[in-house]
Amino acid sequence: MVAPPMDGFHRRIDYLRLSITDRCNLRCRYCMPSQGIPKLKHEEILRYEEIMRVAHIAVRMGMSKIRITGGEPLVRKDLLYLCENISKIPGLSSLSITTNGVLLGRFAESLFSAGIRRINISLDTLKRDKFFSITRVDCFEEVWRGILAAQKAGISPIKLNTVIMRGTNDDEIEDLARLTVDYPLHVRFIELMPFQSNESLTQSEFVSSDEILERLHAIAPLDHVPGPEGNGPASHFRLSGAQGTIGIISPISHHFCAECNRLRLTADGKLRTCLFSTEETDLRDLLRDSASDESIIQTIREAIRSKPERHTLDRAFSRKCFSRPMSAIGG
Ligand code: SAM
Ligand code: SF4
Repeated sequence: MVAPPMDGFHRRIDYLRLSITDRCNLRCRYCMPSQGIPKLKHEEILRYEEIMRVAHIAVRMGMSKIRITGGEPLVRKDLLYLCENISKIPGLSSLSITTNGVLLGRFAESLFSAGIRRINISLDTLKRDKFFSITRVDCFEEVWRGILAAQKAGISPIKLNTVIMRGTNDDEIEDLARLTVDYPLHVRFIELMPFQSNESLTQSEFVSSDEILERLHAIAPLDHVPGPEGNGPASHFRLSGAQGTIGIISPISHHFCAECNRLRLTADGKLRTCLFSTEETDLRDLLRDSASDESIIQTIREAIRSKPERHTLDRAFSRKCFSRPMSAIGG
């Protein structure tokens, strides 16, 4: 097995996130404006053959974990074909997906058969009306059914990604955490991140991970535990007797850049070494100009070498310097 490529700050980059579409069937207010975002043209989006080629090359370079994301990956046609192909790449240790769960009831079993073993599902509330006010679509029930379908299909771990916003869903921190007692679910509280595409959000809506943790400590004793798949960017805790864990992810208040092992490929074929940077390296032209694997590997290595040491965002929301919304980068 080849050692994964190293960046200029001695971080091993072994995790590739593939955004396969910029389209989405929700309009979460922390992610995009109500009218959505301008869509990429069909021909701008990488074809599956192109995405698969990058995945094969990345694994050949030593990257062993791949996550499929978007936009909403389940809205792209023939997704199962892509998953089946990528999951069979020799040397790949983990293929996962991040979804809003709306279509998961329909796809959970076939995703499992296509090689998906780990899933992250976004869920910010347990209330139908609040779900509508956050996502602008009334489909809480579908998402909940999707979560149960993933469980039934045998996908594990199932992580729920929850973005807490003051005045919107901060009153549900405890209830969301208690899901880990009743179900084998791992609930991850993620700090709200400021993007140009969510300009209507204000700094006062930001809730720090320290505050979330303080609230959780007040409900019951919390044990610090290893995460469901070892340690990533989250700190993990378990409520006494709970089946699942609680993860706290603090990209803003306690950034985890020193441990960042990620490389992203956007739906239109740009490599991004940092979620918050505007720097991108184009791969699409290389893929479409019949470039050799070696020249693509060289371009990926150069991009990785230029990965910034850290981002410079802060909880004051004083900087929103992004060229693209989260749905277009691939969260
Ligand atoms: N559509 C899929 C979904 O929602 O799970 C995948 C793409 S979405 C961009 C990936 C993750 O980014 C979601 O868990 C979402 O909650 C998170 N996200 C989007 N905008 C965010 C923001 N402003 N702050 C924190 N997390 C955000
Ligand atoms: Fe769509 Fe995911 Fe963005 Fe929500 S967070 S609008 S589901 S891409």
